[in-house]
Amino acid sequence: MYKASKNRYQTMNYRRCGRSGLKLPEISLGLWHNFGQAATEQNARDMLTAAFDLGVTHFDLANNYGPPPGSAEAMFGRILRSDLAPYRDEMVISSKAGYDMWPGPYGDFGSRKYLIASCDASLRRTGLEYFDVFYHHRPDPDTPLEETMGALDRIVRSGKALYAGISNYGPEEAAAAFGVLRELGTPCLIHQPSYSMLNRGAERSLFDVCRQNGAGVICFSPLAKGLLTGRYLEGIPSDSRAAGDSPFLDAGQITPELLQKLRALNGIASRRGQTLAQMALSWVLRQPAVTSVLIGASRVSQIEDCVKASGAAGFTDGELAEIEKLL
Ligand code: NDP
Repeated sequence: MYKASKNRYQTMNYRRCGRSGLKLPEISLGLWHNFGQAATEQNARDMLTAAFDLGVTHFDLANNYGPPPGSAEAMFGRILRSDLAPYRDEMVISSKAGYDMWPGPYGDFGSRKYLIASCDASLRRTGLEYFDVFYHHRPDPDTPLEETMGALDRIVRSGKALYAGISNYGPEEAAAAFGVLRELGTPCLIHQPSYSMLNRGAERSLFDVCRQNGAGVICFSPLAKGLLTGRYLEGIPSDSRAAGDSPFLDAGQITPELLQKLRALNGIASRRGQTLAQMALSWVLRQPAVTSVLIGASRVSQIEDCVKASGAAGFTDGELAEIEKLL
């Protein structure tokens, strides 16, 4: 039986999530990859327990994580029951619905019908009594926002989740969603956008909209799915995401120009005494709107590496200018 480290709260920093009572670790762990049916359960267990021992209290799921969809929630549920259950009150566990999940007209996008049924199914798969955060995973252009936000409000009021979140909403869509949720009396806890050195759209106005509305921000794929790490600097390892069958990271994306940029960034990281992954996370965490970075991992050593970004030194103006020029 796993017994959590006594030192688990000694190194991680926790940030308040927007204007809420909840704090999140600066580094959170997502289960999108490496927790599906093809994953080794022992490795998954080792990653979850190692992360928890290092102060990572937040674990992020979605109905469709796997493959196949649902299998990451099922694996997480098994590991929770066997090892982490005694620590449930020390964990913030999230799930989402919004992408294609089951056949027919009721298993996708943003209807009340889909969101409430999917939350129930996610609770069954994980064996949880409630999620800490339940998200709408992406905006739905065809369903009235009042219906989708009403479903999140309902999920919270019925005790199936403690807080509501949105993900992949643009600034205007997010502002509208924040307004509806506020009126319903269930203020939006958090927005989950994509943001990294290689994907900076959220800087334009999304961060400001979140701050003005008191919502926290957790940035997904802060390592650009592994590109912003040492992983590809010397070629494409056979056990990497780019070499695998993930449709979300193609080896063709790793061009000589990108590699040149990554190597230059790696040089700056070395001067700062960081790995490239750590510097990429520190760079995201420099944004005042950001509560947490949501990393993925395929092995324990990556988590051990990434958590060291928490509490790392800030950037000098010179470093920021140098990075800006490269990006
Ligand atoms: P990252 O950008 O953090 O990429 C993770 C990958 O980077 C790992 O799988 C690993 O690659 C590599 N890596 C991580 N740490 C290190 C390290 N220290 N050194 C070397 N390589 C490292 O994030 P993900 O794209 O995995 O997304 C993270 C989470 O964000 C997801 O699990 C999910 O929870 C959430 N997410 C949400 C989305 C949404 O629509 N809301 C969409 C996408 C993600 P390798 O596997 O090759 O070893």
